[in-house]
Amino acid sequence: MTETSLPKGRNSIDQDQFLTILSREEALRRFEAALFPREPAIELRKLAEALGCGLARDIVSPIDVPPFDRSNVDGFAARSTDLASATEFAPVRLTLNEEAIACGTAPTHPVLPETATPIATGGPIPRGADAVVMVEHTQPLGGDAIEVRRAVSPGQFVSFAGSDIARGETLLHAGTAIGSREIGMLAACGIAEVPVARAVRVAVISTGDELVQPGEPLRPAAIYDSNGAIVAAAINENGGRASFFGAFPDDEDRLETAMRKALAESDMVVLSGGTSKGAGDVSHRIIGRLGRPGIICHGVALKPGKPLCLAVCDGKPLVILPGFPTSAMFTFHDMIVPILRRMAGLPPRSDATVSARLPVRIASELGRTEFVMVSLVEGSNGLIAYPSGKGSGAITSFSQADGFIRVDALADQMPAGTEAKVTLFTPHVRVPDLVIVGSHCTGLDLVTAPLAHAGLTVRTIAVGSLGGLAAAKRGECDLAPIHLFDDKTETYNVSFLSEGLELVPGWRRMQGIIFKKGDKRFEGLTAEQAVRVAIADPSCIMVNRNQGAGTRILIDRLLDGARPEGYWNQPRSHNAVAASVTQGRADWGMTIAPVANASNLGFIPFAEEHYDFAVVAARKSRPAVEAFLETLASHETRSALQNAGFRPA
Ligand code: AMP
Ligand code: MG
Repeated sequence: MTETSLPKGRNSIDQDQFLTILSREEALRRFEAALFPREPAIELRKLAEALGCGLARDIVSPIDVPPFDRSNVDGFAARSTDLASATEFAPVRLTLNEEAIACGTAPTHPVLPETATPIATGGPIPRGADAVVMVEHTQPLGGDAIEVRRAVSPGQFVSFAGSDIARGETLLHAGTAIGSREIGMLAACGIAEVPVARAVRVAVISTGDELVQPGEPLRPAAIYDSNGAIVAAAINENGGRASFFGAFPDDEDRLETAMRKALAESDMVVLSGGTSKGAGDVSHRIIGRLGRPGIICHGVALKPGKPLCLAVCDGKPLVILPGFPTSAMFTFHDMIVPILRRMAGLPPRSDATVSARLPVRIASELGRTEFVMVSLVEGSNGLIAYPSGKGSGAITSFSQADGFIRVDALADQMPAGTEAKVTLFTPHVRVPDLVIVGSHCTGLDLVTAPLAHAGLTVRTIAVGSLGGLAAAKRGECDLAPIHLFDDKTETYNVSFLSEGLELVPGWRRMQGIIFKKGDKRFEGLTAEQAVRVAIADPSCIMVNRNQGAGTRILIDRLLDGARPEGYWNQPRSHNAVAASVTQGRADWGMTIAPVANASNLGFIPFAEEHYDFAVVAARKSRPAVEAFLETLASHETRSALQNAGFRPA
């Protein structure tokens, strides 16, 4: 998202649009003003196909429901005046009429004084009767009479015609989202078709030379197109009918052809990517040629989401979402969903919110409305909201978080301890049964998988060993996986525990030097020899690890003060180190044996690291923690760990 100079040949209006960053509210206001009011397109839909649609007109009931006075119980239709004085001591005898009213049979005989007619639940009340006696409150007297020992009041066990829905009553108002309950009401009134706002046809286009569709092989330097799928699904969730046009390279001519086709065939067009002002970003340059008035705003004071571009082409909204998946989703939900729902004749979405405490400070940029995704965990007094930011390029941050906190444009931070309002992504809070905060290891998934299969919800929040320990001390998690080496005692983990935490041994992971198989410089050497060779050869590039990682401590020990080429490349995970060597960006690095094996890399063992669990003692007897510890110790888990290349402790 670099700010380069404008392409040549723009007029001054365009320049103004490009240079102005609008507030979220102002951008929405201008976009809505350019689109509404508008006449919605209405269509008649069969009831079975109306689910999720917005009702276009008020619906008035054409009939009474129930259509006739109806018995609510199995019993006898009778006249309440006959039975007003019936008691245990003065039972009343009623002669039975020569018919029995089942559901769906119309009565033929009137109920005259001192008679009754057998009637089933749902049967129509015969002429003359005004109440029903429950069968349980009667005694048969021979085959043709009953005895009643309780008084009966007028209307007892009768549902009168129209008491549920009266003819002419407004059943549903225009703008109602049609769900199963609405469909039930309409069916009860005999309505087979309803006028609904026609689903908004939305064309979805991904842009970028690097995009490959899921299912296709991933070529070097390419990534899978995730926006196409997620944007289309989110459109369908909000009253639109998405049609995916595919991913297009950043080629002005081809993209323009696709955008024109999309506009012609749809009510709305949603692109993603290519909206920054970088040299290769072309989609926004095309918009001016597609219809009036064109770009409404390009640049909104949102984080993530600044490069959002909103346009209207001859009455049709056309938006370009930022390319980064998280930015794309936030801007879509915050700025586009309200427009889409309004066009689809649906009410605004009502998002559920909860209040939760922030365990850490959130720094925020002044002047931009900032969305911070959070994962919720249950604290000792109330919910805690963990910021789960992996950056706007991450897709998992969006799908694994429970909701988000909105930091006002005028705030530069939210201090730790703030009670914040969390908007939930789903209407329900899903507080996990087990919360694990600390260092992540692929072995951990082998312990949590059986728990998840047994129906427990497990949340793992990867914040590194030290972050996990801090969370455990504050009582914000059940356990913290850690692998911290203490130089003084030359031991792992034990010396880092504080009061209230207990160490449960996990497994051992072999750390070692990785290199491409067949690299003669490293084959057959020890770790010390390999590092000496690498330091002496300036063409040999390393990949390091981030400060604070257990692996980094080992690397620094081996390097003993040397800074070989590549030292400042410091990714944050074992997998990133392996990818670096596999893809030839580096020649060597340090990672754990299972990751090296999975990537089919050469491996020189160096030191065995202890990956253990700091368990919060006060939470040890919680069922989910007990289940975790049991699973950890189980034979199945131990052999699964072993098979994956770990050594259970
Ligand atoms: P752009 O806005 O085109 O500069 O893209 C910004 C970032 O988002 C780049 O890293 C792109 O690779 C990424 N990106 C763009 N489109 C998609 C997409 N459809 N799916 C996943 N990532 C994307
Ligand atoms: Mg791009």
